[in-house]
Amino acid sequence: MDDARFVFNLGLEQRSFWRREKHDRGSHPEHGSLDAVRITKATQMRELTRLRVELPWLRAGSSSVQQAALRDLDQAFANFYAGRARYPVFKRRDDRVGGFVVRDFAVRRLNRRWGTVTVPKVGRVRFRLSRSWAEITQGTSARITLRHGRWHVALTTPPAAKVLSGSESTAGIDRGVRNTLATSDGRMFQAPALTAVERARLLLLERRLTRQTKHVLRRKNGGSRRRQATLDQMAVLRRRLANRRTDWIEQTTTRLASGYALIAVEDLRVRNMVRRPATKPDPDQPGAFLPNGSRAKSGLNRSILASLWGRFQTRLEDKMGSARVVRVNPTNTSRTCAACGHCAPGNRESQAVFECEACGHLAHADTNAAVVILNRALSSLPAAGHAVSGRRSPAPAGSANQPAA
Ligand SMILES: [Zn+2]
Repeated sequence: MDDARFVFNLGLEQRSFWRREKHDRGSHPEHGSLDAVRITKATQMRELTRLRVELPWLRAGSSSVQQAALRDLDQAFANFYAGRARYPVFKRRDDRVGGFVVRDFAVRRLNRRWGTVTVPKVGRVRFRLSRSWAEITQGTSARITLRHGRWHVALTTPPAAKVLSGSESTAGIDRGVRNTLATSDGRMFQAPALTAVERARLLLLERRLTRQTKHVLRRKNGGSRRRQATLDQMAVLRRRLANRRTDWIEQTTTRLASGYALIAVEDLRVRNMVRRPATKPDPDQPGAFLPNGSRAKSGLNRSILASLWGRFQTRLEDKMGSARVVRVNPTNTSRTCAACGHCAPGNRESQAVFECEACGHLAHADTNAAVVILNRALSSLPAAGHAVSGRRSPAPAGSANQPAA
């Protein structure tokens, strides 16, 4: 892709030069209009054709990939002028966000998980299927990037087809740390994690990286190649986990969308992502707190789960349509009794068990919360049932049962 980067950078240099010149001449109208020599996508495409005649190494590359680089550049400027993006920057060899877009490409399926895309002059590039095959074949263009020595193919596809449900049933979904998702009818869904062997390997690589970083600091440039190898190996593990989770999100959202007519979730915009366990003051030391396990859930784990839930909800709404996904106020869903509505911190027997102090209702804590979420959604809908059109505003969160703060 060196040639496409060359074309992109050359085109950018040309446009920047023209802008500087226009700026310099701007105060001297007698120099005449610059519009006659204005640089556009069309003029640059013509120059590319001439340049390919002169430069054999450029001719050796794919003209459609090089033209795509100019289209990319043109789009980058359009975004800049529209105030959507910053001024375009030169593409570096290790550019990880850029890549190039191809329009004429052919996809072929290898097996359940892998396919290939044929890119002009580059050849066949293998890629992992993270969307349904039907969606992939509808792709209109593909963005090809090279990251960590591996090709990535991102297809631009029309919006996902809606998944219809033959069922009339409704469900609430609670998100948690122990059970990634719990439904109001008692089902639990667990997002995939790294295996014990993979976790051990990641830990080993992290330690190695620390050592190599110190090494680099001592000897200038020394060992940086080995350090990069460690980073690449860590990236392999992270990518493996990311792929597993993407698969899981796709499968789970399809199952849920086809299984329920309506699903209630907590509104992520309101919710403080992961519930923190209540602090336990240490009776022997005023002002100090006993360990409550919150450290284990903190940091990375929390942010990874938050992004997983965000993506889950987006895909669920893609597949069901926003009218079938109702967002509710997340306040106190874990402390409210699904049977009688009594809300108190003492209802939560333990992390896993819910026992109502008022009516004695006993349930799995996550299932109870999911029922509360469903009830909030249903009470916010018009009495005529759930033939909803458009999104409803979330119900005021159990206003009668709000505990004293
Ligand atoms: Zn109760």
